Amino acid sequence: MDNREKAKKVLDILEKEFPAVATALSFSNPLELLIATILSAQATDKLVNKVTGTLFKKYRTARDYSAVSPEDLERDIGSVNFYRNKAKSIRGCCKKIAEEFGGKVPDTLEGLVTLPGVGRKTANIVLGNAFGKNALAVDTHVKRVAQRLALTRSDDPDEIEADLTSVIPEKRWTKTTHLFIMHGRTTCKAKNPRCDLCKISGYCEYFKNVYMKSKS
Ligand code: SF4
Repeated sequence: MDNREKAKKVLDILEKEFPAVATALSFSNPLELLIATILSAQATDKLVNKVTGTLFKKYRTARDYSAVSPEDLERDIGSVNFYRNKAKSIRGCCKKIAEEFGGKVPDTLEGLVTLPGVGRKTANIVLGNAFGKNALAVDTHVKRVAQRLALTRSDDPDEIEADLTSVIPEKRWTKTTHLFIMHGRTTCKAKNPRCDLCKISGYCEYFKNVYMKSKS
């Protein structure tokens, strides 16, 4: 079975298992999702939603964020880890959005990755979820699941994105991100994956080469 066919079978199964997947981050416009995504690095969605519940009422526009002092913004997001760096990224992004993009979050990958601290992963999350475009974001779960299924041999997120998008139809890219994240969080955990319960084990190289061998 080639990777195109394998990816199709895997996604068909995961879509049935998780029929209503979507980002767990709360947002009502692209700027809010961009900020929530910056805050979510190595932080739980639950904590980020708690912080942004207040933050999004206090600041509405890119200009609002770029006008606030670093100390005040750090205080606003102080319960999230790496808050100093995250405050710097948020202010830097918003300054550029206000000054160079007319206050609007750019709706292209090329535009988004020019923003300070925004890489392809964050850009693709914003494109796929706030702009409704087809975009596959490679986070730690997507990377792990893709590697265990042998849909990629790479360790580099950009190469993994390229490997996945070359075998998955464009209209499924955004959902693939959600499905692999859900599968990674619930079953294909980093330590002790629940291979015994996994519905896609029949397509998994790790299952064949590591899990089954450990049982024999
Ligand atoms: S069989 Fe195990 S390693 Fe493979 S996808 Fe399922 S949980 Fe992950």
